[in-house]
Amino acid sequence: METLAVVDLCAGYGNQWVVWDVSLHAGDGEIVALLGRNGAGKTTALRAMAGTLSKTAGSVSVDGRVLHGAAHRRTRTDVGLVLEGRSVFPSLTTHQNLQVAGVDPEEAVALFPELASKLRVRAGQLSGGEQQMVSLARAMCRRPRVLLIDELSFGLTPSVCRRLFARLAAAANDTRMAVVLVEQHLSYAAELAARAYIMSDGHLVSELPAADLISRQAEIEEIYFGRRPASRDVRG
Ligand code: ATP
Repeated sequence: METLAVVDLCAGYGNQWVVWDVSLHAGDGEIVALLGRNGAGKTTALRAMAGTLSKTAGSVSVDGRVLHGAAHRRTRTDVGLVLEGRSVFPSLTTHQNLQVAGVDPEEAVALFPELASKLRVRAGQLSGGEQQMVSLARAMCRRPRVLLIDELSFGLTPSVCRRLFARLAAAANDTRMAVVLVEQHLSYAAELAARAYIMSDGHLVSELPAADLISRQAEIEEIYFGRRPASRDVRG
């Protein structure tokens, strides 16, 4: 049985669908990537999986149980969501940010030792990477069965990204949670994920093993992301 099974998920805003018939799955401890150009519908799909969007159709199951209703009516340990933009409260300290989320700061520090010396610092004064650590710790310490993460790498240097990704991979392996990672960088997705799903105009258009993200990188970038290969630019 899959840890996460999403079947024919449709989602949108007001009276308009922007995501249609998304079906994907992730097993115990498995990380899958959800890729696609800006506006493809990745965040909307994640929010629909987490139950934070009201307009949805299709089904989302965790360990074989179909989740019903909005996020606040679900068990907090079913699905965790980390949205892009570091959702910390900037005027609260790191310690307070963890406490208001019901997370034991010691547990967060065990996950991210870098936060030990930052517990009394206001979150707005933390670096981008440290803010992402707080966001991740808040979600991961609740031990969700499924963790949905939107653009963890956004605005971070490669070395900070790699550190965060290493912790995420270790946590997924240790706790056996399934992870769906929205990512813009194919190379990060290839390092971390077992499989990748590619979205375009609100639809899933491809599912492929992570190894293909590297071997077919130029083709994927061009077809699905609209990025022209550098070599073609040089040749004119
Ligand atoms: P990005 O990579 O730029 O974050 P995305 O793939 O995550 O993009 P979404 O943010 O899901 O894409 O947006 C998909 C479509 O839904 C876009 O056309 C966007 O304008 C629209 N959309 C997103 N949020 C809302 C909203 N709150 N109300 C109405 N339309 C929205």
